[in-house]
Amino acid sequence: CGIVGYVGPQSALQVVVDGLARLEYRGYDSAGVAVLGEGALHTQKRAGKLANLRRALEEHPISGEGAGIGHTRWATHGAPNDVNAHPHVDNDGRVAIVHNGIIENFAALRLELEEEGRKFLSETDTEVAAHLLNVELVKRGDKDLAAAMRSVCKRLEGAFTLVAVSVDDPDLVVAARRNSPLVVGRGEGENFLASDVAAFIAHTREAVELGQDQVVELRPDSVRVTDYDGHEVEVNEYHVDWDA
Ligand code: GLU
Repeated sequence: CGIVGYVGPQSALQVVVDGLARLEYRGYDSAGVAVLGEGALHTQKRAGKLANLRRALEEHPISGEGAGIGHTRWATHGAPNDVNAHPHVDNDGRVAIVHNGIIENFAALRLELEEEGRKFLSETDTEVAAHLLNVELVKRGDKDLAAAMRSVCKRLEGAFTLVAVSVDDPDLVVAARRNSPLVVGRGEGENFLASDVAAFIAHTREAVELGQDQVVELRPDSVRVTDYDGHEVEVNEYHVDWDA
């Protein structure tokens, strides 16, 4: 239901959890985060209110100096429990992904991935995207998460905003959208993204609206937007002048 991403010098965990709090008004049944640090992916997620996630983060602290992503879920596939909460991670612990929307063809993709030996932990439609990203990265033999995302999106049907981070590239957040909202917030030496500007308006009011079927690569000093074929596209920048 809500998505937040951050890359820059601040604590990604802090920025992401604060951003999720600003999206609480939209309603949700679970919340979770993933941050990169010390060459590993750290995730935490809990059914229920953000307070449950905050408590879990106090009991099991996670730290990261890299990028971070966060999610509030409104379950469509799979009960609202801890396991089905986002982020979802591939079997190698290489990528973490959060998702708003529905992947309509997930059942066929899941079957295919299970036949290839991928182990599914959740009942969500989302988890196929985590495994597909890993498959694509292995196939490519490089660390190009954005290229992998573009290939994966071409295989997905439905409405989605997908946001991913990878241990291979700790200062990168990659996101894609189709029929589901996604806005980038430009900062100085830091960048944000969210399903709603309310999530980052405390940090920046310089926004970039993503178009249909586009992929964005967010780094501390750059925002690059391409179509699913990898061609760079013009973006629509605007200033948010209302008060959140
Ligand atoms: N379809 C996904 C799920 O049920 C995402 C739901 C959402 O948009 O929060 O996990």
